Amino acid sequence: MGSGVMIGIDLGTTNCCVAVLQGGSPTIINSRQGQRTMPSVVAFADNGDELVGVTAQRQAVTNPNRTIYGVKRLIGRKFKEPSMQSWNKSVAYDLCAAANGDAWVKTRDGEFSPQEISAILLREIKDVAEDYLGEPVSSAVITVPAYFNDGQRQATKDAGKIAGLEVKHIVNEPTAAALGYGIDKDREQTIAIFDLGGGTFDVTIMRSADGVFEVLATHGDTFLGGDDFDHALMEYLLDEFENDFQHDLRDDPVALQRLKDACETAKKELSSTPTTSINLPFICTGPSGPMHLRHDMLERELLEDLCSELLDRLDEPCHQALDDAGLTADEVDQVLLVGGMSRMPGVQLKVEEIFGKISSRDVNPDEIVAIGAATQCAIMTGELQDVILLDVTPHSLGVRVKGGRMSRLIAKNTTVPTSEKKLFATTSDDQDFVEITVYQGESEMVDDNTLLGRFILGDIPKRKAGEINVEVTFLIDADGVVSVTAKETLTGKQASVKISPSGGLTATQIDEASGRGPRRAAVG
Ligand code: ADP
Ligand code: MG
Repeated sequence: MGSGVMIGIDLGTTNCCVAVLQGGSPTIINSRQGQRTMPSVVAFADNGDELVGVTAQRQAVTNPNRTIYGVKRLIGRKFKEPSMQSWNKSVAYDLCAAANGDAWVKTRDGEFSPQEISAILLREIKDVAEDYLGEPVSSAVITVPAYFNDGQRQATKDAGKIAGLEVKHIVNEPTAAALGYGIDKDREQTIAIFDLGGGTFDVTIMRSADGVFEVLATHGDTFLGGDDFDHALMEYLLDEFENDFQHDLRDDPVALQRLKDACETAKKELSSTPTTSINLPFICTGPSGPMHLRHDMLERELLEDLCSELLDRLDEPCHQALDDAGLTADEVDQVLLVGGMSRMPGVQLKVEEIFGKISSRDVNPDEIVAIGAATQCAIMTGELQDVILLDVTPHSLGVRVKGGRMSRLIAKNTTVPTSEKKLFATTSDDQDFVEITVYQGESEMVDDNTLLGRFILGDIPKRKAGEINVEVTFLIDADGVVSVTAKETLTGKQASVKISPSGGLTATQIDEASGRGPRRAAVG
């Protein structure tokens, strides 16, 4: 049995943060460059080196199509989804379809699953933690957006495995944030966790009392984050440049990368100053020589105008989460801001508008999730005893029944782990098998929901319709991973599946990736 230390990892779309419990309190482990977070960026250099974090980010301008960021947005998605098509257009690297249709990354070094790219980040985190601690790190708690489905959670575990980390637990990011925050504040309260990061938005309503954290409801948008704010500003400046100089920079990956960096920097600056400027000399060469992109006096108000639609999109998930929790905004005692984007004054104003109160300012929005993950490690090793974590499943789960309807076994926002049973009867005479088709989603009709998997229970006794009963059991473990069993009640014959989504990596693919490091197949 390998002992080794367990670390808590916030594997973010934009930034990673890692913490470990030391002397009873969670401590952030600095990156190789001495920073408290590490950009979630991986790059392949000309000499064959894999670059990670700041080192990868720094060379993005000169190596745009082999520099991969935002890979978490690809996890559990199909290449042909519209969101992937538009992501493919907005980034300098290429996406491609894996054999099973999953969205993968393609560079001239090969084709890479998002799990493999995430594993490169995790391996770096593991190495840095081992250097810092002076002992082996064997396992981890990794956080994911609350809205991640089963397949996305599984993919995150696979990434850990490829990196040589046993993922002991997957925790929802807002839950981790509350855990990190609540650890030394155990008065009874209702908290809203508002997490706006680089790529995803989550809002979660929780209750904490006597060291017990209970998630009441969770909602979000997996395609709303800081990148979109950067893009809004970028589009404005691209249009402005085109108007002024009749030159479109959209086909120039190097120019786009420089502009993206400049826009992000400007956006961050505008959180603390009312105006800034953008100055990119020699952005490209036009018909009459070098051209420069310049915008003086860029105002916070302009940024907020450009982003007003994005800001408005924060409303609905918050109201939905409150509704699901059966609460009004007044009943929320505290709003916790998480994620770098929550530093934008426009976002803070929005939060005040929605919840009718000032959010708490005494947490570091970049670190609180990792702190919570490390706290969860301590709960799991038994170092911390008087805290219990109750999490919920974000989607309803059920099976397909007659007429394409969904029969719900587990309602959304049920506390996990959980298990539910339901009896079904055969619908035709002499039927000798039943097909169990598992869906997740809120619609009455399965076609509007997401197919999770299907399996067949065969060789059941032939009888008249309705005479044979099949008992279906759903089990969700503490990581949110679903298994389904069907049992024919007369003979006791049963079949079951661990829901493996239609995408993801196979066990062989995971083994290959962990054995060899990232795959380097030649691209034809
Ligand atoms: P993730 O959870 O996706 O990894 P983070 O919580 O690290 O993301 O947030 C990253 C986002 O926050 C980026 O879009 C970044 O530009 C933005 N951000 C960081 N600091 C600030 C700031 N001071 N003002 C506005 N946005 C910021
Ligand atoms: Mg985050």
